[in-house]
Amino acid sequence: MPELTHPLPPGSTIGILGSGQLGRMTASAAARLGYRCHAYDDAAALTRFAEAVDVVTFEFENIPLTTVEVLEKLVPLRPGASVLKICQHRLREKDFCNGVSVPTTAYRAAGDLAGLEQAVAEIGRPCILKSAELGYDGKGQVRIDATSDLTQAWAAMRGHAAEGASVGGSAAGGVVEAIVEFRMEISVIVARSADDSIRSFVPVENRHKNHILDETIAPANLPGEVADRAEAIARHLAKEIGLVGLLAVEMFVTHDNKILVNELAPRPHNSGHWTLDACVTSQFEQFVRAVAGLPLGATDRLCDAVMKNLLGDEADDWLRILSDPGAKLHLYGKAEARPGRKMGHVTRLIRR
Ligand code: AMP
Repeated sequence: MPELTHPLPPGSTIGILGSGQLGRMTASAAARLGYRCHAYDDAAALTRFAEAVDVVTFEFENIPLTTVEVLEKLVPLRPGASVLKICQHRLREKDFCNGVSVPTTAYRAAGDLAGLEQAVAEIGRPCILKSAELGYDGKGQVRIDATSDLTQAWAAMRGHAAEGASVGGSAAGGVVEAIVEFRMEISVIVARSADDSIRSFVPVENRHKNHILDETIAPANLPGEVADRAEAIARHLAKEIGLVGLLAVEMFVTHDNKILVNELAPRPHNSGHWTLDACVTSQFEQFVRAVAGLPLGATDRLCDAVMKNLLGDEADDWLRILSDPGAKLHLYGKAEARPGRKMGHVTRLIRR
């Protein structure tokens, strides 16, 4: 398997699987460090793509495992296929966390309707059924209350998963999770390089609307001890999973300050966009540094910040947003503003 044994010199080419806004912002950070980027979303031309780049990474997890396993034999892949394999499957993700002593919500696998009945009986109602693969922004999730019909819940979850299967994957089974009465949802973004240096950004609070991230508040307003614990968990997971690259760890903080990991994403994350404007090194630059074998940058926060996503027609407000001279507006250049689609974000810097 090809490995990168030295830092990539400027002028080298980074291949990015996926061509959304995360890839776009990564390519922009890479360009500042002197790299070229090839974005890639054509499964037919894999070999040609591998020949044209020096290292490959990805900006989303819903890539068929076979694609990255083939690529990994041709060109260095960071993070590796084994990381993607865990992070693209909710059950494997939770098993992995628990296996390295990191708590998650209580959960059970549900491979079919009979499995769902068993799992719900064990976890208790209310609970949430999530598709094991291909879920994002709350898609593929069904809440099961005292009166919910499990046949319908199963069909609804499978329906969402089948929609997601169009991005290339199999609709696997489901996971039943206990509902957490959380105090706050937070995330920590951590980078790890091949020489085992690890740097994390401060925990941030994430507020959702309709299951989609609406606002990120940096830093999360938590006692120092809890924030330190959250960072320690993210660092521990990055090391144990064998990460080279970036990992976003989404967590719930309960009312008694327990931390439960909800999800892992081995790539730049929406909740890290504030770092573009408010940190010494942005999550995108850090990602490029880790993938290219450069020393990691400082993650220090220059000021506090609030990042607001611009979904659908919220981005039409660009002129009003710009009339606040301190607002840092980022638009992704997408042509069609469908409801709920991430069209851009705005970060407001809070000077202390
Ligand atoms: P996910 O796709 O797993 O990130 O879930 C999307 C959102 O649904 C989360 O950010 C939470 O707001 C909510 N959610 C997911 N799982 C749970 C849970 N077990 N208990 C309470 N809320 C949840």
